Amino acid sequence: MSMNLVTLLYLLASICFIQALKGLSSPKSARRGNLFGMAGMLIAALTTVALIYELRRMAGGGVSGISLIAIGLVVGGTIGAVIARRVEMTKMPELVAAMHSLIGLAAVCIAIAAVSEPSAFGIAPPGDFALPLGNRLELFIGTFVGAITFSGSVIAFGKLSGKYKFRLFQGAPVVYPGQHLINLMLALAMVGFGLIFFLSQSWLPFLLMTAIAFALGVLIIIPIGGADMPVVVSMLNSYSGWAAAGIGFSLNNPMLIIAGSLVGSSGAILSYIMCRAMNRSFFNVLLGGFGATATAGAKGQQEQRPVKSGSPDDAAFLMSNAESVVIVPGYGLAVARAQHALKELTEKLTEHGINVRYAIHPVAGRMPGHMNVLLAEAEVPYDQVFEMEDINGEFGQTDVVLVLGANDVVNPAAKNDPGSPIAGMPILEAYKAKTVIVNKRSMAAGYAGLDNELFYMDKTMMVFGDAKKVVEEMVKAIE
Ligand code: NDP
Repeated sequence: MSMNLVTLLYLLASICFIQALKGLSSPKSARRGNLFGMAGMLIAALTTVALIYELRRMAGGGVSGISLIAIGLVVGGTIGAVIARRVEMTKMPELVAAMHSLIGLAAVCIAIAAVSEPSAFGIAPPGDFALPLGNRLELFIGTFVGAITFSGSVIAFGKLSGKYKFRLFQGAPVVYPGQHLINLMLALAMVGFGLIFFLSQSWLPFLLMTAIAFALGVLIIIPIGGADMPVVVSMLNSYSGWAAAGIGFSLNNPMLIIAGSLVGSSGAILSYIMCRAMNRSFFNVLLGGFGATATAGAKGQQEQRPVKSGSPDDAAFLMSNAESVVIVPGYGLAVARAQHALKELTEKLTEHGINVRYAIHPVAGRMPGHMNVLLAEAEVPYDQVFEMEDINGEFGQTDVVLVLGANDVVNPAAKNDPGSPIAGMPILEAYKAKTVIVNKRSMAAGYAGLDNELFYMDKTMMVFGDAKKVVEEMVKAIE
């Protein structure tokens, strides 16, 4: 296989990746985007295997290593396919975090292998263990970014899954005095050992740097709690891309550099968008530990106060007598898998001449775009779906808002209570509507662990129960 052909195929794969990102920017084209991504990855992986085969053959080495790579591809591909097929939509965010952790770990493993035997990676002539200075720099940056990505993603996985008792995996932030200073000292020590490795190429500073990076990954994620997790997920996504790109430079592999940079930069753009949605500082996020004090003590603030409650029939009556209804879906929609029933409800209301729209908060659910994906799956028409900034001005003139399994994204405390852990986060202003119907199973708090004043307002009617069952009953009542 000639190098020109390899370059051409890598270029083709890169174009596929760029098309994938373009497609994924809208739910309408997301399927096509995914297909491009899959095609690009297939081309990139097969080309790389063919390239390794060719290089080894030309160097007169055996081709036995190729069968190991093939086994790795088959085993890894099968595990990935099985997990992706089985995963429930509600478990998707933690799966994404788990996958980011593997990219980080892969970067660290490749770097360790490259330092121990540079000639195997074509970085140094056979038998020569001295790494060129440029490679040392790339390897040390790739390693510490990879190690931070790995351990940070493991903590994010635990926090997102919410099923482990281990303190570090709890949604509530872990804060202690001098936290930022300790992190800063560790970061300086990590870079310092990296520089010693850069100058001396000795193992001890390399290993110390890697160990500190693993610890730092944990320490910058544990103070982040509740509502700020969306930014963590996109930030780790970005880090995993940069780790891959760093290693791509060391291995002199343009495909890895391009794919890593695309992941790194698109993840950074997503982090920026999430920061804007959460009203958080982008630089605080990049440096880690943002929102630490803000979210401290978030849990356990629910009050025991009376609320007005009604049945699905009452809610159906209110909606069918309205002129305009806005539906605010949240994480509960994903848990109940109520999207298809919800679409049916929308159709029934529209048949009655009611103007029905969906209002989507950028961090509703547990991953960016979560609600859009669910609504697209149920084939809800895109022209009924509105982003927060487009619909917030409309709530004041809306007759009925149906809040379905959402909580934090409609919590007025973000606007009214400067001491609240979610203070400053833009919310969907459902509280401005004439009537508010809230469906959830209990008075339990949302992800940020906060009580919600919206539930106690005079204009609010709570309809308790699983979202799917409640919406199905509403549909029957309207029929
Ligand atoms: P919340 O977690 O604030 O609230 C969801 C509500 O749904 C809960 O109060 C719960 O109440 C209810 N619920 C759960 N299951 C059901 C069910 N089967 N039927 C009906 N209701 C149900 O979700 P929001 O979408 O409002 O906000 C998202 C939160 O998650 C934000 O704090 C955001 O920062 C955070 N987050 C977002 C990520 C993202 O990328 N989008 C990533 C990580 C975190 P009850 O138990 O009483 O039913």
